[in-house]
Amino acid sequence: MSIRLRLTLLYTAILALTLIAFSVILYLTLAQTTLGVVKDTLADEAKRLLSERSVDFVRRGLVITVPSSNRAIQNTFVQTRRLDGNIEFRSPNSVEADIELPLQAQVRTRVLEAGYAYDFATIRNTRFLVYSKPITYSERVVGVLQVARSLEDQDRALDVVRRTLLAGSSIAAILAFGIGWVLAGTALRPINRITQTAHAIGAERDFGRRVSHAGPQDEVGRLATTINTMLAALQGAYRQEAQALQAQRRFVADASHELRTPLTTIRGNIALLQRDPPISSADRTAVLADMVDESERMSRLVHDLLSLARADAGRQLRRETVPIKPLIEDVCRKAKTLGPDRTIICAEVHNVAILGDPDALKQVLLILLDNALKFTPAPGEITLSTTARNGRVRISVRDTGIGIASDTLQHIFERFYRGDSSRTGGGAGLGLAIAKALVDALDGTVSVASQLGMGSEFMVELPQAPLVGADTAEADAIAVNM
Ligand code: ADP
Repeated sequence: MSIRLRLTLLYTAILALTLIAFSVILYLTLAQTTLGVVKDTLADEAKRLLSERSVDFVRRGLVITVPSSNRAIQNTFVQTRRLDGNIEFRSPNSVEADIELPLQAQVRTRVLEAGYAYDFATIRNTRFLVYSKPITYSERVVGVLQVARSLEDQDRALDVVRRTLLAGSSIAAILAFGIGWVLAGTALRPINRITQTAHAIGAERDFGRRVSHAGPQDEVGRLATTINTMLAALQGAYRQEAQALQAQRRFVADASHELRTPLTTIRGNIALLQRDPPISSADRTAVLADMVDESERMSRLVHDLLSLARADAGRQLRRETVPIKPLIEDVCRKAKTLGPDRTIICAEVHNVAILGDPDALKQVLLILLDNALKFTPAPGEITLSTTARNGRVRISVRDTGIGIASDTLQHIFERFYRGDSSRTGGGAGLGLAIAKALVDALDGTVSVASQLGMGSEFMVELPQAPLVGADTAEADAIAVNM
């Protein structure tokens, strides 16, 4: 059953119950009031008759009569009975209409005990209210006076009231149903509209569309706002997913391209070696050297791809206190071996520790140093330094090399991105992407500042860790021992 129908039925049921309760109370009150009026009239009449009957009684012995017919109220039927039940007197209108008021035994007992009794009697299909009262003489009950009135008029009036209330209530309930149905429909229309829009959005996957609601910020307004907020979040997530998918496709395409190039060269070289007649021994040596270069390049590439895939897969990096001074000194030593014709300075390295993975940090520093060496011609200068501030340690690798153009700068952390290929020295463009993935996994950041022709500075920021139980001197000792 729809909410609309349920709401309408609820309104109608509430109204119908209210009307029924109201009608019943009104009807009963009216019935009681009209009956009360008749009761009072009969009691007054009986009282008047009894006060006037004594003269006749004395004159006629035990015969009890009312004084005269014309003094009785019209429509009131009067009758007297002896104690043995025999009718003694009937007013002329009773005789004329042949109306004999009954007095049942239990009513008679009630009259004698209580001093009066009201009773209903149906005579010739007409309801009468009969009031009976004892007649006393010398403090002795000698008979019963009965006065009665027809309730026909009251009953007819009450019947009209009953029919009117019934018809009125029924019409009101039907009207309430109709109006309730229209009102519930109007109130629920915005919800229907929202449902239809949401359904269309789901079917067309058009998360850029929004649910429109021009009304106030009531329950429906809040529902529309909530759905729109949810759609915005969904749109963002959807876009992100699409971007990630696109990046992944690009990555796969780039990776296959990079792997195909050395393979093609190697295949070409093999074909050269298989030639008949064979190539000269000098060519053979050159071809073999080329093949060694290409296979080394391929294995470097595969190694890089593996590192990147591991970083992407969220490989669990260790989180431990890593004193960075010994680590940087170690990297510096390696750099000096690799670039003996460049000046490597590791002077401003402080005795601090980071929270992270020593192997990952070492790999990041080696990538940065490798690049610095690659892009800094002799007799350039490469400086490693550290600073610690606000719970973060910054490691900087600065070179005086060729620098990076500003339009290139924003892309250098992208996968397979290489600067001007004539100067890049054969890298696949994965080094900085790997460094960034590792630093991200360590809750750090990596950034760059560079100017073409002036050199570059790469900065890695990582969370600082306290050097447990070691003052500067001890830490220096540790550094030397390592
Ligand atoms: P690759 O492994 O090929 O060196 P990277 O991701 O490490 O790739 O670097 C991407 C590009 O960033 C390089 O091709 C180069 O153009 C630029 N680059 C990186 N480091 C430096 C640097 N120290 N000086 C100048 N250019 C740099």
